[in-house]
Amino acid sequence: MNDEVILREVGPRDGLQMIKSQLITDIKLEWIKAQAKTGFTEIEVTSYVPASVLPQFADAGRVLSGAQKIGGLLPTVLVPNLRGAVMAMDAGAKKITFVLSVSESHNMANVRQSTKASLAMLRDVVAIRESRRDTKIATALATSFGCSIEGPVSEARVNEIVESVAEAGVDEINLADTVGYGDPKQVKRIFTDVKRTVGNLPIAAHFHDTRGLGLANVVAALDAGVRRFDSALGGLGGCPFAPGASGNITTEDTVYLFDKLGINSGIDLTALLEVRRQLTQWLPGEKLEGKLFAAGPANR
Ligand code: ZN
Repeated sequence: MNDEVILREVGPRDGLQMIKSQLITDIKLEWIKAQAKTGFTEIEVTSYVPASVLPQFADAGRVLSGAQKIGGLLPTVLVPNLRGAVMAMDAGAKKITFVLSVSESHNMANVRQSTKASLAMLRDVVAIRESRRDTKIATALATSFGCSIEGPVSEARVNEIVESVAEAGVDEINLADTVGYGDPKQVKRIFTDVKRTVGNLPIAAHFHDTRGLGLANVVAALDAGVRRFDSALGGLGGCPFAPGASGNITTEDTVYLFDKLGINSGIDLTALLEVRRQLTQWLPGEKLEGKLFAAGPANR
């Protein structure tokens, strides 16, 4: 495969929302800056959620404005609702990710409204963007491959929601295996269907490695033509509604996979492993994943 991918780091958002330690703003920015230097063009830097829900992101405004000063980087922010979207756009965010769940129960648990209400809200977010601002809107569809509350999620429903989201006028759709239920056959089938549904609209994949199938799912999504992926350094991350769930696919292992497949991610793996080493110091006592960091590159 002679190809290019965009790998987006989501550790400072998806990763930090589950950990016990409160990382100070300066360290978050040091991490984001260091990782951008290794070749990352997109990093999800924070989440515009109320500090009462997730105190980790009380500094969202400062993190975003700091990250916007980093040359060559498009910092993205997660927003769960209209209020967060407006705050992020007011803060000058160039790209926001509006999250909603395909599974009704997960959406209710995560953002406390029906999927239908979230879809209506998304249309409002797009309308506000159209009228006043220059912000790209991505939509993350959580539980696209299964739900820890409802179990299997119908593939027809995934496609229906993808269709509504595309019609709403978003710039990118991200299918997320929030709780790590996906498997390679299902991943290939769903992405193939979805790509047929949306044509040229960019599609991204967000996998968690909860049951060890994360990188196999990346290969399956590549086969289906997906060229945008999310990952977290040190495999940080989780979901509050998936007890015992381990994190996102590990960034450094994913870059190693791309290198081995001859796919250009634009990321310098040696430099990235140095940032990974620093992450251990920034998050003492936190459990980090990663085969490559533990074993080292396959040199003599
Ligand atoms: Zn996630």
